[in-house]
Amino acid sequence: MNVLDQFRYSKDDPSQLNISLKKDPYEKSNNNNGNNLNHLLSTSVKVSKEIFPNIHSAIENVFNRLKIKNNLNFFITANHLQIQATCSAMPMGDSAEIILTSKLVELLNEEELESIIAHEVAHFYYQHALYPQPSSTKNRLEYLNLLNFSRAAEISADRIGFIGCGNLETSLRAMLKITSGLSEKHLKFNFSNYLDQLRELKETKGDPNLMYSTHPNFLNRMQALIWFSMSNEYNEHFNTGKKGTFDLKNVDDKIYESIKKVIGDEVEYSNREVVSRALMWGSIDIFLSDKKFSKKEQEIFKKNFGDKSTESIVSLIKISNPKSIQEKIRKTLEEASKLLKKDKEKIVNELSKLIKVVDGDKKIAENTIIKIKTSLKL
Ligand SMILES: [Zn+2]
Repeated sequence: MNVLDQFRYSKDDPSQLNISLKKDPYEKSNNNNGNNLNHLLSTSVKVSKEIFPNIHSAIENVFNRLKIKNNLNFFITANHLQIQATCSAMPMGDSAEIILTSKLVELLNEEELESIIAHEVAHFYYQHALYPQPSSTKNRLEYLNLLNFSRAAEISADRIGFIGCGNLETSLRAMLKITSGLSEKHLKFNFSNYLDQLRELKETKGDPNLMYSTHPNFLNRMQALIWFSMSNEYNEHFNTGKKGTFDLKNVDDKIYESIKKVIGDEVEYSNREVVSRALMWGSIDIFLSDKKFSKKEQEIFKKNFGDKSTESIVSLIKISNPKSIQEKIRKTLEEASKLLKKDKEKIVNELSKLIKVVDGDKKIAENTIIKIKTSLKL
């Protein structure tokens, strides 16, 4: 296991999404997408030892620290406006290119550049380019969850940026320079002052616009790195001689909560709402498998969802035709299919418990569970 596998941010877990990644990020893809490389070769300068010795050695340092193979192409492109690094890895091509803008290279020193290179290498290694784009969906819940994922991916990549340059302060400095666009001539690197800004932001209840951002706020990112550097796992692995303050799991939870304080908890709230709707309509689906909502089943339903919901459901069933009830169930489950895997599994686990208590044929109820699983895309 290398450091990338070991220290990935736990909320950046692609198994929660309905996607398939390559087993090995270096695996060649069948789809040939050489156009991108051709375009770069004609418009940008490829990094080689001879042309850009400093950048070349920065790249070598990164791969030595991360102990992974380098089969990536690095390019410098003239762009004096944007301080940017991008990894145009895959998803279709069989090569990966990392492109650094001239402005980025001018602004950062060699060590800081290492943190950015390692950050981009992490995007390649983790196959973040294969995550569904938030803009690809029209469903709001899915959109918000994908944005959460995109932000988690950045936290993972920042972590590798830090490990790849080998120095916490260097990676924080690189973040500050990129965010402010200013060189060290203008910046004072007193990190606790910046974290005061984060405290202030949280006290003013955050910035709801950040909920729509693919990247976490730079203050959250800096804090995430500082906490990571305080984890037991990091200090043990790198023999820093220091004792950690938190377990890595604890650090990951703190980061998640801290980002939530800034972006607000609408995402979590929406997810919870959808889970509870799916539980309610899923229960009805199971109870109605035998076409009857018996008194005993109504009592169980009441215990789970309260008197009021039970009353309105019972009268709804009385006045509606079964097709429209089925349609309501279908819509609710379709909405829930946009949830993360862990939430969908929770729904199925809860609903499975009902099999024991249904009045009708248990086999039919079991089939309903299978149908629900399919509807949830599990
Ligand atoms: Zn990134």
